[in-house]
Amino acid sequence: MTDLRPRRTKIVCTIGPASSDPETIEQLAWSGMDAARLNFSHGDHEMHRETLAGVRRAQALIGRPLAVIADLQGPKIRIGRIGEPRSVNPGDTLVLSAPGRGAPGDLEVTFAGLADTVAPGREILINDGLVRTRVASVEGPRVVTRVEVGGLVSSGKGVNLPGTYLPIPSLTEKDEADLEFALGIGADYIALSFVRTAADVEGLRERIDASGSHARIVAKIEKAEAVENLDDIVAVSDALMVARGDLGVEIGAADVPLVQKLIIRAGRDAGRAVITATQMLESMIHQPEPTRAEASDVANAVLDGTSALMLSGETAVGAYPLEAVATMNRIARAVEPSLEYHDPGRRREGDVGMILAHAVCDVAEDLDAAVIACPTQSGSTARNVSKFRPRRPIVAASPDPVVLQQLALEWAVVPIVIESATSTEDLWRRTVDAIRASGLAETGQRVVLSGGTSLNRPGTTDHIVVRSIE
Ligand code: PEP
Repeated sequence: MTDLRPRRTKIVCTIGPASSDPETIEQLAWSGMDAARLNFSHGDHEMHRETLAGVRRAQALIGRPLAVIADLQGPKIRIGRIGEPRSVNPGDTLVLSAPGRGAPGDLEVTFAGLADTVAPGREILINDGLVRTRVASVEGPRVVTRVEVGGLVSSGKGVNLPGTYLPIPSLTEKDEADLEFALGIGADYIALSFVRTAADVEGLRERIDASGSHARIVAKIEKAEAVENLDDIVAVSDALMVARGDLGVEIGAADVPLVQKLIIRAGRDAGRAVITATQMLESMIHQPEPTRAEASDVANAVLDGTSALMLSGETAVGAYPLEAVATMNRIARAVEPSLEYHDPGRRREGDVGMILAHAVCDVAEDLDAAVIACPTQSGSTARNVSKFRPRRPIVAASPDPVVLQQLALEWAVVPIVIESATSTEDLWRRTVDAIRASGLAETGQRVVLSGGTSLNRPGTTDHIVVRSIE
């Protein structure tokens, strides 16, 4: 039986052929899923539309809002169509060429500007870095490489050029169409792949704003350039993803663990949700039990204070999607009691929202309150409190279903729907009633509320109130 007490670290499940039918999506939700990721690198719009409908159906059945993250493919370079997979060995010559401009035997790549971008000595990696080549010469539109580490090369495999600046837009034509579609069906988050600079995120924000959507942005950190520009990217993003798959190809697996900690720290300091992703329970694609190393990896991300843990192939194509979610749920719950509340000190520079968010955590600690409650318009009060990682559940009470869905991704936030209030006192009463009904606090226990006394004006947090459950 799945333990459904509020878990602080959230779980994102990538939906794919192994999980896209409505019953499995519902089971994923019962097993602990908080957010569903639609991966636009695979599948067509019809499939994603049905998946989203399955997620909304599931959230109605389990009575808990779920976030939907539309993950755009981004400017990923790939090997073009080839007949049979080709095996290459160290010392082989492999020629990569622009589409339609090579010679027989060349491997076409999906980036027409490859030959203008690379120079002799540069590395070109294929198939998630399994095949490593180095540029020997550039001959017109053809790039001649020497294979350093051999392996299999087949149609559609990813091509990475670590350390090479790529003069390509951050949104491809496909991304533009996928973005319009994802906003149209009501995705709560848009994840942007291969972010390099803050300008990439700002470009996406302009498009989202122009469409009238309130979707939030997840910047996927998977390039060395993004790590270099991290502070600027954090400043303009709503959330971050430690996209360890491509990041590991770009910077090398050995550097991923510390960069993961750096990204989580940067996100936490700025009050941005951080999703730690990729290969967390990889062996569970084929087996119902994780390796001990995988359990440790999940536990470490929880200890780092990541907001969410992500499953990719485990739930998208694996044989044990439900077991993978349940395992992640169990590991997070086993670790979370060891998380302490640390007063982060006085670094809040006159920001009333942040000062109150910090204070509410202290008040809840000192009173041993059952719950911190944030009646919220935009979600910002609950997010601010989440930043300080208190030890109590943070109930975000709102009449806005989109805000509640988005808050499902935030650390320790329990989104609960309430009806619109007519006065501040009415808002507090509705919030406390909803907490009592949810079972999160019992008679006699205290609830510490924080929010704004100006109804319907987001970002105006100005009070802390203590109530007892009667
Ligand atoms: C990753 O590279 O780790 C990642 C999450 O991105 P994608 O699955 O889109 O390659």
